[in-house]
Parts: sequence; C-alpha cells; structure tokens
Amino acid sequence: MLANVSSSERMASHPMQRFQFVVVGGGIAGVTCVEQLASDFPSAEVGLITAASHIKAVANFKQVSQTLEEFDVEERPPSVLQEKYPNVTVIQSAVRSLQADQHTLQTEDGRSVGYEKLCICSGARPKLLTQDQPYVLGVRDTDSVQEFQKRLSSAKRIVVVGNGGIALELVFEVRGCEVVWAVKDKAIGNTFFDAGAAQFLIPSLEAQRPPRDAVCKRARYTTEQGPEGGSDGGPEGGLHTFTAGGDRRRPGSGSTGAGSALGPDWHEGFLLRGAEETPQGVRVEYECEVQEIFTPSDPLRPQPEADYGAWPVYVRLTNGRTVGCDFIVSATGVVPNTDAFLQGNNFSLAEDGGLRVDDHMMTSELDVYAAGDVCSACWEPSALWQQMRLWTQARQMGWFAGRCMAADVLTQPIELDFCFELFAHITKFFSYKVVILGKFNAQGLGADHELLVRCTKGQEYVKVVLRGGKMVGAVLIGETDLEETFENLILNQMDLTPYKDELLNPNIDIEDYFD
Ligand code: FAD
Repeated sequence: MLANVSSSERMASHPMQRFQFVVVGGGIAGVTCVEQLASDFPSAEVGLITAASHIKAVANFKQVSQTLEEFDVEERPPSVLQEKYPNVTVIQSAVRSLQADQHTLQTEDGRSVGYEKLCICSGARPKLLTQDQPYVLGVRDTDSVQEFQKRLSSAKRIVVVGNGGIALELVFEVRGCEVVWAVKDKAIGNTFFDAGAAQFLIPSLEAQRPPRDAVCKRARYTTEQGPEGGSDGGPEGGLHTFTAGGDRRRPGSGSTGAGSALGPDWHEGFLLRGAEETPQGVRVEYECEVQEIFTPSDPLRPQPEADYGAWPVYVRLTNGRTVGCDFIVSATGVVPNTDAFLQGNNFSLAEDGGLRVDDHMMTSELDVYAAGDVCSACWEPSALWQQMRLWTQARQMGWFAGRCMAADVLTQPIELDFCFELFAHITKFFSYKVVILGKFNAQGLGADHELLVRCTKGQEYVKVVLRGGKMVGAVLIGETDLEETFENLILNQMDLTPYKDELLNPNIDIEDYFD
C-alpha cells in the first residue's frame, strides 16, 4: 500500500500525496466508485480528485425490477463523503496531466498525486455546434442551465438543435418563447424512440401547456445563494436533490464549479420562461442540420436575404430555411472529457472519443480504469445491452469499476456484472413515464425483426421488438405496468410465436398469462 507520505516528501514544497486508489471525478460514476472502494478496503487510502465544488451521490436507491433501477441524486459538499468514509480524502482541483507509466497525476493547483490503481470518471461535456459563438449555448450543469434561464427570460424565439434526451426535455419545458427545433432525423427523440412513439408524443408539444409553477413547493437545500431570479429560497444547508422518476424534488441553484453533468429532472428547479406572455408553440424542422450561424453584421452572411435586422442571430439550416432567433441551444450530444489524460500516454480511444475499456473497466494503460460518460464500453456486449451515456449506467459502471479494482488487488477473478446483460432505463418525457428495454429501437437488427405496437392516444404507447419470435426490446410510454413482465420475457428469451396475437391485447392480463 502506498498511503504513507515519506518524510522527504513532506518536506518538499509540493509533497507527493500517495493513495492506494485514486478516482478522478466527483460525478455519479466517480463517487459510486469511491464508495465501493472505501467500504471494501476500510484500511486503504482512497483519493478523490474532482474539479467541481460539490460531489454527486446516489440516494434512495430502488431496484424496481431485475434490471430497472430508480434513485435520487444528491449534490453534496465533499465533506459528507469524508465523514462517512474516514479513509477517503477529497482533493478539489482539476487534474492537469497524468503520467501513467509513473502512476502519478498533477493537479491544476500544483499537487502531485501517486496511485496504485486509478479510475478516471471525468464525464463528458456538450458537443457544441461551434466554439466561441456567444449566441450558442450548451446545457450541461447547474451553471449552464442558469445561464440558459437568464437568456431565455428576454427571448422571443430560440432554436434548439439536437434530438437526444436533453433537447426533448428542453422543448417541452420552455414556456413563453417560440421554439424552433431542428432535428436531423425524420422523427423527434430518435435516440430513444421510433417514429411511432414520436407521433404519440407530438400532441404534447402542440397542446396548450399550462404555465409552470414559479414557486418551488418542496424543501430545497442550497449551500450558497443563487443569482437573482435563480433562487426561490429554501432552507440553507448542504444538499441538493435531483430525482429519477416518480416523486420529483428539485435541484438547488448553487454553483457546481467545473460541473458534473446534470441528471434526471435537471430542469425541474428552473423556471424556463421566455419574454412572451401568450403561449408559444414548438415548430419542428425535420431532417436538417445547421449549415451556418451568422449575425446581422457578419460580413460573410448569405446574400441576398430578407431583412437581417430583426434578430440578433440567424441559423441557416440544410433544408434551405433561415431562422432568426435570440440564441441557439446546442444539444447535439457530448464529448468525453479525456484531454487532461492523453498527453504522453497510450490510451486507446473509441470512435466517439471515449477511453476504451474492457469487461474489467480497464483502459489500455496499466492500472488505469475508467467509468461513466468518459469511457466507451469496448467489450463484446450481451445481445440485449448497449452503452448510452446515462445516469444509471454511470452508477453501474462506477460501482463495477470499484469492484474490478478491488478484485485485481486481491487477485480474485470477477465476471461482468448482470446489470450489463439487459439495457434498461426509466425516465420521464413530456410528463409520461418512459421505460426502455433491450434493443428498444431494433438497434443492429437490420431487417431481422418484427414490431408489435399498441397505442391509446394521450394515454400509452407500447412497442415490442421481436426477433425470431423472441422479445429483444420494448418501449413503454405511460402507466403501462408491463415493465416487469416484458423484462422477464426478454431475459428468458421465450419463444412468443404462439402468443403474438395476444401479447398486446389490452383485454388480457399479460402478467397472469405468463405467470
Ligand atoms: P459527470 O457527472 O459529468 O461527472 C464528471 C466529474 O468529473 C465532475 O465532477 C467534474 O467536475 C469532474 N472532472 C472533469 N474533468 C476533470 C479533471 N480534469 N480533473 C478533475 N475532475 C474532473 N441521464 C439520465 O439517465 N437521465 C436524464 O434524464 C439525463 N438528463 C441529462 C440532462 C442534461 C442537461 C445532461 C447534460 C445530462 C443528462 N443525463 C441524463 C446524463 C447524465 O447526467 C450523465 O450520463 C451522468 O451524469 C454521467 O456521470 P459521470 O459521473 O460519468 O460524469
């Protein structure tokens, strides 16, 4: 164990701090990993290096079914972790560089840290449409949502670009401002849904949505006063709570410094209101991308065009339309935060820029593991699982990485955990409960699949993906109560050919049927 600091090091101006385990990143992956290591090895020194002023921790964890899980995420001061685990030291600074061959790290505030085993959980940042364009905003952490909220309050029209979960939630939540939503696909929400599910959800965007309540009715704990308009009071303390599904508490408005990614219900504590009094709609521009962004004074703006004076910024879309707006929200995915770790090392990177990890969460560098948004799962996955950069997977990977690091130290074998057997996610979109399972969008199945769909407008949308008569995926929108039965049918790979006609029959209690 390397926990002791030698006397010569103590004498140096920047003594090397040594830990048996070091984890970088105080998001959900990093904190879960630290907790796993600290409880497995109470006598080992565990260091957590994080750029943000708060850490994120899982609370009220609930295993809903074999693979579905729900939990709250609490944003806490780092001291909470150190109080719970006396063997944990939190260093609040960003990592500047890593020397993997020497097992050392340097931080921005000038420290050197030595490790035996390292886990990188530095998350990801928004992939911005363009850098250094003041009219383009990315949404990632509490600070960026506050900036978005501030700019929205005087905006009459915004353009949202992107078709993932963040864009979906954002367009639904904004009030009092026209939203032009540019998606590159034929349907909204392509990351999670197919065109059928999108059709089910579209009326929610068109409906007269009630104004959002400006007052937070639940207790909320902050460690500092939010900026003007960003805080609605609440008891002072050290806890921010985010909730995944069900009972929804609201996040606090304190700063998160360099920022962990927000999680489920990230918008809940923020009033997303524009400058218009009357309800404003959402206009979807399908199958297009941003071709260019220009301001009225831009000498390179396209000519000739209509009056460019009305809006501060314009977006030229690949479908030929030009849209003026107050600002643009770039919600086009994320880029893994690997920059600080790459120079001088030999990390294998995946196509999406993540650190490649094997089925032990190990990177290509000796004794360096990675988990959460920063990594790319490069093992041969189960036929029913895929990586998606989501809250639940950050927790699962952080936890499993901790277990793998422990197993390696103890030279014990460890198998890939069951949670990587079946992709399973619960969330809420447009106020509907959404459960997605397995190959919910027939990912990678080509033509070799069949879809069964049941839809009741405004109530529920159920889609089942079958391959060779066996269920391999499902999308459940609304209170369908089918998740456990479908999860079982997917996991046990029963041949459903004889039951196909009854499977989605609303008059049959499917749970009893397969009991
Ligand atoms: P993060 O939470 O990003 O944490 C990374 C940590 O690393 C931070 O503490 C950061 O400060 C630290 N760090 C970074 N670089 C360094 C460095 N060089 N040195 C030291 N520390 C560093 N997921 C869902 O499941 N459901 C949702 O509804 C959902 N909504 C989302 C909405 C938004 C707006 C966003 C941005 C994401 C959303 N996600 C959602 C995704 C989810 O938040 C992420 O998948 C998850 O938070 C990833 O956790 P992580 O621990 O890997 O990374």
